[in-house]
Amino acid sequence: MKCITHSDIDAVATCVRCSAGICQECTNGTFYKIDNKPLCKRCNYEVGLENNSIFKSALRGKQIKMIIFLITFVVGLILFIYTKNTGHSTFSSVFYMLLCWGVGFIGNFFDKKTDNRSVKVQVKDAYEEIKHPFATLIGKILGFFIVALTSPIQILACLIGIIRVKKQISENENVLNRFIAENT
Ligand SMILES: [Zn+2]
Ligand SMILES: [Zn+2]
Repeated sequence: MKCITHSDIDAVATCVRCSAGICQECTNGTFYKIDNKPLCKRCNYEVGLENNSIFKSALRGKQIKMIIFLITFVVGLILFIYTKNTGHSTFSSVFYMLLCWGVGFIGNFFDKKTDNRSVKVQVKDAYEEIKHPFATLIGKILGFFIVALTSPIQILACLIGIIRVKKQISENENVLNRFIAENT
C-alpha cells in the first residue's frame, strides 16, 4: 500500500479514521491522534475542524447556562431585598429567593451532560418514584430548595467551565493553524 498523500512512497501505517495508508513522514507529522494512533493529512484537518465546532457549541451551551443562572440569581436577590423591605419574614424572603435560584437550574438543559447512571439504576429510580409518590414529591421539593442553595457555586463552576472550553478552543485553533501552515 502507498501513502494517500505521497503516492510514490510506501505506507508504514494506516489512518485510524479513514484507513488510508500513510508514510513515515505523514506518521511523524500527525498533529491529532485517536487512541494514540496517527491520522492522514486530510483527517488531521477534518478532526481539527470537528473539534473546533464541538468545543464552540459546548461553549455556547455553557454561556447560555451562565446567563440563565446569573439572571435568576440576581432576580432572587432583588426579590429577597424587596420582600424583606415590604415586611415579609426572613423565612419567606429566603423562600422566594431560593424559588428563583432553583428556576436557574433549567440552564443545565443547555449544557448537555449525558445521564451516566446505568439503565438499570434509572429504571430502579423510576420504579421507586412510582411506588412512593408522596415521599418522592416531598423529596423533590426539599431537593429543589437544597439544590437551589448551590446556585452561587453553580455560577462559579460554570465560569470555570467556560474558561476551560475557551482554552481548549484556542489550543485547538493553534494546532489547526500550525497544521495548515505546514501543509500549504
Ligand atoms: Zn484519514
Ligand atoms: Zn505521506
